[in-house]
Amino acid sequence: MNRLIVLLLAVCHVISLSERGYFWHLTDLHLDPNYTVTSDPGKVCPSAGDQPVTNAGKWGNYLCDSPGALINSSIYAMKSILPDPDFILWTGDDTPHVPNEQLGEKAVLEIVEWLTNLIMHVFPTTKVYAALGNHDFHPKNQLPTQNNSIYYRISEFWTPWLNQESIATFQKGAFYSEQLVNTGTVGRVIILNTNLYYESNSITANMEDPGDQFSWLENQLTAASQKGEKVYIVGHVPPGYFEKKREKSWFRENFNKRYVEIIQKHHTVIQGQFFGHHHTDSFRMFYGNSGDPVSSMFIAPGISPWMTTLPGVNNGANNPGIRVFEYDRKSLHVLDMVTYYMNLSYANTESPRWEKEYRLTEAFLVPDGSPQSMHKVLEKITTDHCYLQKYYEYNSVSYDLESCGETCKIDHVCAIREVDFTKYATCIQNESSALKPVYHITVMMVALFIYLILN
Ligand SMILES: [Zn+2]
Repeated sequence: MNRLIVLLLAVCHVISLSERGYFWHLTDLHLDPNYTVTSDPGKVCPSAGDQPVTNAGKWGNYLCDSPGALINSSIYAMKSILPDPDFILWTGDDTPHVPNEQLGEKAVLEIVEWLTNLIMHVFPTTKVYAALGNHDFHPKNQLPTQNNSIYYRISEFWTPWLNQESIATFQKGAFYSEQLVNTGTVGRVIILNTNLYYESNSITANMEDPGDQFSWLENQLTAASQKGEKVYIVGHVPPGYFEKKREKSWFRENFNKRYVEIIQKHHTVIQGQFFGHHHTDSFRMFYGNSGDPVSSMFIAPGISPWMTTLPGVNNGANNPGIRVFEYDRKSLHVLDMVTYYMNLSYANTESPRWEKEYRLTEAFLVPDGSPQSMHKVLEKITTDHCYLQKYYEYNSVSYDLESCGETCKIDHVCAIREVDFTKYATCIQNESSALKPVYHITVMMVALFIYLILN
């Protein structure tokens, strides 16, 4: 009898092991092909703009986009940490932060091709689901809703990763949908071109449904539901707000509203949303009408350490980060997430070292990466300063180790909790006014204390 139980347990264990799959999420590589290690602070990297760059190291600098050496090191680190993932999500932004005049269509395409070849060389048999970022076009941000030479050329680079139907939809609007292969699952990956919703894209400004992508997405989700498929949604520019700058959103308002509505309507088939663009490590919650968590979006940290020049963000750089997701191959449930990083200062002064930064379930003591668990993570961040500080350090990939005070906390918590524009504004207002009485009491206590000492 005991033997039978042991045997059954062993069989169950093998089943549960075989159902756990792994995939990489890689984003915001931002290669700066002109990065040069030199003592001339004006000549290190065009991506630093007018800022002088001192202490340029072989692996990069916090004021610059990635040198080729850093990108090479990241891709080979992935190969040594998890050599045979089920697939790789690559969510775009391949070119440096330089003015359009310094780049051109030819340079954009050369960079996309170089990175594609590198990933294909290191992972020759791995399926890659790749999305375009707002920097993967010339002029940048102006991604169009119909065929053009850039979509066409990139579809050629990515042909080994795309099926025939995907090539056709990609050439038209840079979005596509494919059944997950090699995982034995009934799953689907939908790659969106959310650059069409970006407020800096003037081509799509007055459109209702650029490239008909929203109606295509709804059809994909409805069909997935009918076929019993579960879905991952993948893209570059995320909806909602940037957690490092109050009231900074990326989508135009009508597009943001439509996106949120689609997630709410189809959440039962969506098992995860994976985005980039921020360079920071964060997540977003989607709630149903009764306030229950229905979906989560994971925003992965970038490879590029580039300090954002967005006005109002202070010292917004990050260490390079790469991320493994662990998931259930059958249900596509997100089981866990492990982020690895390179401490850039250490790399330049000592040696390049990729190390584990944190594992979601260990760091936040939650059972998995489900929307319910991510809601618990948010609650912990909101109510316990230790968790807030931990989240905050991971947010910049252990670069910015300062304390996250009350204003910082409101910015992060409201951005995570509310993707909807109106609800975000209400969140900021409510959290700020809740802060005031505490602030006033603290000021009065300090004043009383000083009065008592002086008298
Ligand atoms: Zn971007």
